[in-house]
Amino acid sequence: METKIYLKSKKDQSLVRRHPWVFSGAIKDVEGQPVDGDIVSVHANKGRFLGRGMFSMGGSISVRMLSFEDHPIDTDLFKRRLTRAWETRKNLGLVDSKETQIFRLCHAEGDQIPGCIIDVYGETAVLQSHAIGIYMLREELAQAILDASKGRIKYVYDRSADTLSKEYKDQVKNGYIGEQGPDQGIFLEHGHKFAIDWVSGQKTGFFIDQRENRRILGEISAGKKILNTFCYTGGFSIYAALSGATLVHSLDSSQKALDLVEKNVKLNEIPSERHACIKADAVEYLKDLPEDYDIIVLDPPAFAKGMHSRHNAIQGYKRLNGHAIRQIKPGGIIMTFSCSQVISPQIFRDTLLAAAINEGRNIRIIGQLHQPADHPINIFHPEGEYLKGLLLEVE
Ligand code: SAH
Repeated sequence: METKIYLKSKKDQSLVRRHPWVFSGAIKDVEGQPVDGDIVSVHANKGRFLGRGMFSMGGSISVRMLSFEDHPIDTDLFKRRLTRAWETRKNLGLVDSKETQIFRLCHAEGDQIPGCIIDVYGETAVLQSHAIGIYMLREELAQAILDASKGRIKYVYDRSADTLSKEYKDQVKNGYIGEQGPDQGIFLEHGHKFAIDWVSGQKTGFFIDQRENRRILGEISAGKKILNTFCYTGGFSIYAALSGATLVHSLDSSQKALDLVEKNVKLNEIPSERHACIKADAVEYLKDLPEDYDIIVLDPPAFAKGMHSRHNAIQGYKRLNGHAIRQIKPGGIIMTFSCSQVISPQIFRDTLLAAAINEGRNIRIIGQLHQPADHPINIFHPEGEYLKGLLLEVE
């Protein structure tokens, strides 16, 4: 018997609008005893069927919806969704590109598989579960990836150990599902070479979401002196240096990240006199910048993980951006980002407005930046729009 979840009156409204999350506080009654990962049906207060989703016991989201229609949730459904996701990337020119071998195949809610991230590096797909239901379905998902790609993907690596809730962390081990593949490799992004390690790197090994923004930085880098803060693998730095920047400084607080930058600098044959690493805390370093830069990139990790930390995050963005606005030379450009889901583009812009007022400098927005097309946003799930950025010219 399928478990049925009944919602409190009026709490069905967001589901009627196809928002894919059911919060624990919206549940009135549970008919059955569901456990983590079970597929359950969700009903309005009076019993009307609303859809089916994956149940999860801990955390504030109790059900992640997989369908708003009355059809079964089975291997076939995942195969259909991943085949469509693959076709979308193919239509975007990412699958057969000679210049780019790195793309996101599945962006969770944006591809109608909540909790499921799949990143592709050459012939390897890296699967990352953010919901226990997805982890339980990993074998089916891996097969669906191989089938959807018609042999283009050869290996599927599961990298879910650090993204599931606490109680599962110790039980889940990363590793290949099925055939064993490599642990790392060198891959192209718009013709730039990157060494990527999905076994020990951050997230799935690379921040694919900044691909088009890195390209934009490349377009304005010639002849410029650039500071790339929170640089991780040095993605922005490599584009800037290969596009003719006179000097690029890559700053991160992690030595492991800077080692990766050095590796990528060598891979791309960037002369050592045009690039240097700085190991420092970005906020401290920007307080009193020892050098003048034409362009400063600010790409910090998410300052807010949820609504409870939003206020502090806003203060953090204001402080960080305020330092850069104060210090950059006249006519300089700041490329600034927030990847916090709870910071909307409007809040981010208002935060920069507050920083500009504080610093007393005139600023013009010369570009509005966002996540690329392989990180689609489900229109019913605005939270999926997590990466936002602004290109600012400071007078
Ligand atoms: N811009 C990168 C992704 C940034 S990820 C890209 O294009 O790939 C965020 C990075 O910020 C991580 O490498 C982390 O080590 C670094 N970091 C976190 N806190 C920091 C701090 N206070 N100062 C400097 N770097 C920091």
